[in-house]
Amino acid sequence: MSDYDVIIIGAGMGGAASAYALSKRGLKVLILEAGPTYNPATDYHLNQPDWEKKRFPFKPNSQGKYTFGTEQVLDDTKWSKLRSWNHQLGLINITSKRKFAAYHHVRGVGGSTLHFTGEAHRLHPEAMQMYTHFGVAADWPLTYAELEPYYVQAENLIGVAGDNSGVRQRSAPFPLPPHAPSYAEQILAKGFNKLNLSWTPNSLAVLSKPYANRPACNYCAACNLGCPRSDKGSADVTFIHAALQTGRCEIKTGVQVLRLETDKNAKISSVIIADNKGQHKFNAPLYVLAAGAIETPRLLLASEVGDDSGQVGRNFMETLFHTSLALHPEPLGSHRGLPSGFICWDYNAPDAIPNIIGGCRFSPAVAEAGFIGAGQYATRVISGWGRKHKQAMRQSCANVLGITGIGEFLPNKDTYIDLDTKQTDEHGIPLARIHSQLTELDKQRLSFIANTNTAILHASGAEKTFERYSNYDFFNTTHVFGTCRMGIKADNSVVNANLRSHRWQNLYIADASVFPSSGGGESPSLTIAALALRMAEFI
Ligand SMILES: Cc1cc2nc3c(=O)[nH]c(=O)nc-3n(C[C@H](O)[C@H](O)[C@H](O)COP(=O)(O)OP(=O)(O)OC[C@H]3O[C@@H](n4cnc5c(N)ncnc54)[C@H](O)[C@@H]3O)c2cc1C
Ligand code: SF4
Repeated sequence: MSDYDVIIIGAGMGGAASAYALSKRGLKVLILEAGPTYNPATDYHLNQPDWEKKRFPFKPNSQGKYTFGTEQVLDDTKWSKLRSWNHQLGLINITSKRKFAAYHHVRGVGGSTLHFTGEAHRLHPEAMQMYTHFGVAADWPLTYAELEPYYVQAENLIGVAGDNSGVRQRSAPFPLPPHAPSYAEQILAKGFNKLNLSWTPNSLAVLSKPYANRPACNYCAACNLGCPRSDKGSADVTFIHAALQTGRCEIKTGVQVLRLETDKNAKISSVIIADNKGQHKFNAPLYVLAAGAIETPRLLLASEVGDDSGQVGRNFMETLFHTSLALHPEPLGSHRGLPSGFICWDYNAPDAIPNIIGGCRFSPAVAEAGFIGAGQYATRVISGWGRKHKQAMRQSCANVLGITGIGEFLPNKDTYIDLDTKQTDEHGIPLARIHSQLTELDKQRLSFIANTNTAILHASGAEKTFERYSNYDFFNTTHVFGTCRMGIKADNSVVNANLRSHRWQNLYIADASVFPSSGGGESPSLTIAALALRMAEFI
């Protein structure tokens, strides 16, 4: 007999939303989280002199290990203009192969939302039917209309600020009014206007007014370093907080689930965990796996709890992105504001980019590129030493404008997660190995984004481009999807529309691994939360 009705593995957005919705309905929930807890008031060091140097304050055990497969050979005869470049360094990757840089994530209560930007997007309805309409990726086994009520619930719990006249059909208004663009964003927006591109305040998990005992944002732009005010709606201060308030949710941190065990009735019977005291076993009637799109397939494969058709780990999708940064002649104070205060959805529909399947979106990039302090200027924009350097710094600091386009990444057969055959973690569990390759269609989309970025910067008056980077020559991903795709049939998917495993009756998967397609640049967390809330209702 178990003390719990459900065990949730992972306290990121998927695990947190599941915990909230299940405990609210009366179930006793245990969350097992490999990483530590963060205290926003004391762990984010924005008040210390070296705040810029530290970036996100990783703690012991707050990052997982992983390895990479074979690097893709770059096709520079055709795509050399997509190379990552800095005006002082020249090419940032000087090799002829695509370098594996990083899968950016945090292990901890809140998962990767602890350092996320806070974009809270709904998917484009047509981006959920990519196979039917365009013959690529796979269809979601549910429609936008079916997911819409759960988007509303997630937005209300988080406190999303947005513009009700925005692009998606809504059954209820945003709980909070949109944020106003900063001065620098208004200058960038002039570039969009000149090119006849529309823009709208971004929908953000960042409070524009006090909400649920959290204060409004102070526009320090440091969201990716962790928000000390807790106005950014990371999963710890929203769903986890609400789950704990039910009195029916318990979290154990520093607990890595090593293995799932099964019984003869096609059910998960228990989980084996490791903490600082050794290995233990826990069980419950139901299990929700929410370890993220890299660790979820790793755990399933390492436990030999896969599916019947070898789909676990397949259909991985990384972040397709291109960023351009340029100096504007005027001082703009561009270190202030929100990292991604407005957004252009004009090319978001899967058929919006001329002759290229799969959409994209554009938004400001100064803060995400790190230009919220002088240190980045001194290393990436202005060279030299002494008086001349000081003068140049005075003239240029806070003048950077940046633009990022993020687009659809289509699944392909060479892009997947498997287990490393040689390297294991300290418990002897094989590490996840990331394989990822860009297709020609992805490069075409990237090229469109790169050209548009340049045009927007120039139109806004920022002519001196000093840096460009993209995932053409670096795997450097923030959004990860796929690997346990949802679908109708067991022969081409791992879970059904309610996120229940086709094979294991009491196993649910509630993270970005279930996405059949990535969307046209939408950030995934709100969709992860909405899917988890829907799953909880089914359970
Ligand atoms: C810099 C950056 C900016 C971003 N900005 C945005 C944004 O603006 N909007 C947006 O929507 N998304 C954004 N993202 C992406 C977003 O943060 C992630 O897509 C999302 O948080 C993923 O949620 P998840 O629940 O799938 O997984 P995760 O957040 O990865 O959570 C999984 C959790 O499971 C735990 N875990 C893993 N394995 C085990 C195990 N074996 N045992 C126990 N626990 C385990 C991990 O420690 C982790 O806490 C950003 C990401 C980055 C890196
Ligand atoms: S800009 Fe707002 S949400 Fe982001 S870290 Fe600063 S106070 Fe928090």
